[in-house]
Amino acid sequence: MTTQALCVYKDKKQFNFDIMMSKKLKPTRMCIICRGRFEQDTLLRFQINSGKILEFSKEGRSFYMCKNCMCFAQDKLVKLLNGKLKLRYKNIEDFGEYFSKSVREHNKEIITNG
Ligand SMILES: [Zn+2]
Repeated sequence: MTTQALCVYKDKKQFNFDIMMSKKLKPTRMCIICRGRFEQDTLLRFQINSGKILEFSKEGRSFYMCKNCMCFAQDKLVKLLNGKLKLRYKNIEDFGEYFSKSVREHNKEIITNG
């Protein structure tokens, strides 16, 4: 009796390629606040340095936030970020100028009734 290979793939390269193609073509990233998965271009990427949230500089540790979460009320956002980043800030400004500006920009179009 001869043993027959069960694998239909002739080589490992082809196998890896098919695995890769069967996965989603667009990579998704997770928002640290809501833990939802989104395509990369619907997320904002930040990095944290000395307790300040900065624009991602292509180096170091980074995290993603979805645009939905950017629109949370600021006190809610502060609370959530404090929890995620192990900080104890009171205002959105405490996370740094870059971040508070980004939040303001995302809330610009939302009209509130005060
Ligand atoms: Zn989110």
